[in-house]
Amino acid sequence: MEVTIIADVADGSLHPVTAQLVGAASSIGGVPTILCPGGVGASEASSITGVSKVVSVEGACFGAYDVGAWAEALEPLANGELILSSASPSGRELVASIGAMKGIPVMQDVTEVSEGISITRPIYSGKAIEQATVSPPCAISIRANSFDDPGSEGDAEISTVSQSGDIRISVKEALAKASERLDVSEANIVISGGRGMGDPANFEHLYEISEIVGAAVGASRAAVDTWEEISHSMQVGQTGKTVVPSLYIAVGISGAIQHLAGMRTSKYIVAINKDPDAPIFGVADYGIVATWEEALPVLKSELSNLVSN
Ligand SMILES: Cc1cc2nc3c(=O)[nH]c(=O)nc-3n(C[C@H](O)[C@H](O)[C@H](O)COP(=O)(O)OP(=O)(O)OC[C@H]3O[C@@H](n4cnc5c(N)ncnc54)[C@H](O)[C@@H]3O)c2cc1C
Repeated sequence: MEVTIIADVADGSLHPVTAQLVGAASSIGGVPTILCPGGVGASEASSITGVSKVVSVEGACFGAYDVGAWAEALEPLANGELILSSASPSGRELVASIGAMKGIPVMQDVTEVSEGISITRPIYSGKAIEQATVSPPCAISIRANSFDDPGSEGDAEISTVSQSGDIRISVKEALAKASERLDVSEANIVISGGRGMGDPANFEHLYEISEIVGAAVGASRAAVDTWEEISHSMQVGQTGKTVVPSLYIAVGISGAIQHLAGMRTSKYIVAINKDPDAPIFGVADYGIVATWEEALPVLKSELSNLVSN
């Protein structure tokens, strides 16, 4: 069976999981072709044992990651009966987009594959294991470290293909990113607001503080679901982002279990809530029982003094 592997190059180099994808393909007797977006890691990919062919896919759209442009450029070359990617955030997005363009089934976060094609994958945050059978053609993302690296004894042929993608999508994305603020999953300090902020305009107080200390602004799911002005990319929690900053400040957030799942391993947690019984205080290192209207001006002025001294 022909297998197309989308190399994981999201951080600008060939991620070791790519070799594990070859291991997955080989375990079911697949003949893998690796597509290297932007030509990244093509020679390294060609040395992976068992690889039949490497395609270095070049094009202006690969200058910055953008799922729409990358999928558009890679899809015509993904001709295997089975398409594999890593289950990294970008790998999942790409395999889903390419699968949708081809109209084939997509299975995410798979940990075992056997001939047929039968797959195993954890679901419900790992609380259950699903086993399913899917007929090729299909697209699958594979969780890292689920398959062995087959070694680097290979010497596959490398061909180069130029694909245009739609660079307008990349440019649009780059402009959007330039105007975006620091992402919660990257920041060392995160200040998040919940439904207790009362109005999306009140998040401006959080942004003012974030600018003083170089923090990212996050939000609870109730906040992003209630107010369209609060982006879903800011959501912290079980179905949002997991953050592990040095300091997490939760403002007007009750502390539901699903929110705690995304931030409870932060080094220090400060909670501001008017309800002394709010569950957020159960995980907070420092709890301030007050309205944000009372607490944030004080916090802002203390932090300004701290930073300027
Ligand atoms: C399957 C599933 C997945 C979920 N995933 C997530 C997730 O990823 N992330 C997430 O956050 N939630 C998630 N939720 C939702 C979660 O259960 C809660 O509903 C949500 O976290 C509540 O958000 P909140 O704390 O902002 O709002 P609320 O529960 O409404 O709490 C608002 C808090 O603000 C306080 N408050 C009100 N006014 C003020 C004021 N003026 N000053 C100070 N405090 C004030 C109140 O005392 C209250 O504690 C999920 C739920 C489900 C079922």
